[in-house]
Amino acid sequence: EEDRELLLDWGFETGAERTAEPDPVVAVVGRPNVGKSTIINRILGRREAVVEDKPGVTRDRVFYPAEWNDKTFTLVDTGGWESDAKGINAQVAAQAELAVAHADVVILVVDALVGITAMDEAIVQMLRRVRKPLLLAANKIDDAYQEPEAAALWGLGMGEPHPVSGVHGRGIADMLDELLKVMPEHSQYAEPEQYDGPRRVALIGRPNTGKSSLLNKLAGEDRAVVNDLAGTTRDPVDELVELGGLPFRFVDTAGIRRRQHMAKGAEFYASLRTQTALERSEVAVVLLDVSEPLSEQDVRILQLAIESGRALVLAFNKWDTLDEDRRYELEREIDRDLAHVAWAPRVNLSAKTGWHKDKLVPALLRSLESWDSRIPTGRLNAFLGEIVAAHPHPVRGGKQPRILFGTQVSSRPPKFVLFTTGFLDPGYRRFITRRLRETFDFEGTPIEVTMRVRE
Ligand code: GDP
Ligand code: GDP
Repeated sequence: EEDRELLLDWGFETGAERTAEPDPVVAVVGRPNVGKSTIINRILGRREAVVEDKPGVTRDRVFYPAEWNDKTFTLVDTGGWESDAKGINAQVAAQAELAVAHADVVILVVDALVGITAMDEAIVQMLRRVRKPLLLAANKIDDAYQEPEAAALWGLGMGEPHPVSGVHGRGIADMLDELLKVMPEHSQYAEPEQYDGPRRVALIGRPNTGKSSLLNKLAGEDRAVVNDLAGTTRDPVDELVELGGLPFRFVDTAGIRRRQHMAKGAEFYASLRTQTALERSEVAVVLLDVSEPLSEQDVRILQLAIESGRALVLAFNKWDTLDEDRRYELEREIDRDLAHVAWAPRVNLSAKTGWHKDKLVPALLRSLESWDSRIPTGRLNAFLGEIVAAHPHPVRGGKQPRILFGTQVSSRPPKFVLFTTGFLDPGYRRFITRRLRETFDFEGTPIEVTMRVRE
């Protein structure tokens, strides 16, 4: 059968991707304004310095694929770092710590012209605890005569300062040569759950949509309870289910199997469960009951799934109950309430009879493949070039913002950053996003497109 062939295809591809060893991860840290972004741009070989368009929004971890002397690695931009951070800065600091935890090598950037500050010292203290190989970049040494300023950074006790100039590129090549010496072949610290084991599925939906019936139908007699996940205080129980010859891990099925009586407050707990399951999953199956009108609760759960950034499949259950009238209504409900997730594959099935249950796996694999995918920078920029030539941004107040360059900064889900000469209209952003989706076929995954405006 055609589905089966596709399934084997996808199974192979997703399998191959997941056994590949992750590239080493290099985190660039330092207090704000020392020149981290400038150095990162220099390493990536971009000419223009860029800044984020919305401070605080895009200042989380951003991953860039990088290369030096044929060795590939992942550069992590950690944003600024305030040691006694509160609010948004605390979030940034937490992101930076997380980045360091999952990095194989750390580049600490210090402004050599300013010299050692209390904040630099605080960062060093934190880095001492994690004991990762570290390169100390003494930045803003634009000229040889300034090198004694770099030497003063021996005082941090973090080894030899490498005098560099992010702006002029001076010393960057030498520092990267040093980086290759301390960098492992593959990452030892990259978040492991991203790289191994069966794909993790969250089966979610409001009560009585048929989650437990579907799980039973899928699992059949061979159901195996895997384990309580070590290290959590909650009680997620996962089940490993083999479907179409591939193992899938259904997460937090305890919440599905324990019959929930919808007492007061129960909806709140159901929603917590949904969130927990989503957090631990890679792909969400949102189950909808076609025997009843789509409800606000359905739409809310769907929204949680979209916002979680997981791959998504919509499953319309109880198809066996459908008559002509209801079918017509359903189509109208879908048009009205689900237009914003037209990108998610849909499966019509019946958990009761088992009808179409084998359609679920190809849909899961298709969504996961989109979720995993990486668009090579060359292809992305060829696409951007074409689309911008055919549909330039409208002129606004005598100015016409241009897209200079784009790159996919991460996958799972795919996230893109466009470097521009000005702010793009929301309508134009949506247009670019829609074309991106169509051109690269991101069926089943949310995608994110952000802009960075050139200084
Ligand atoms: P970040 O906050 O650490 O990412 O710092 P940025 O990369 O945004 O740089 C902060 C400021 O320092 C900007 O005005 C840069 O132009 C400037 N800067 C960065 N690198 C250098 C350098 O090597 N030499 C000089 N003179 N200025 C630099
Ligand atoms: P959960 O609360 O989402 O786990 O839903 P259940 O699996 O407990 O199902 C709720 C009710 O819907 C039960 O009475 C099931 O027998 C019924 N049900 C589940 N799936 C189907 C289906 O495909 N067709 C029909 N007709 N009923 C179903």
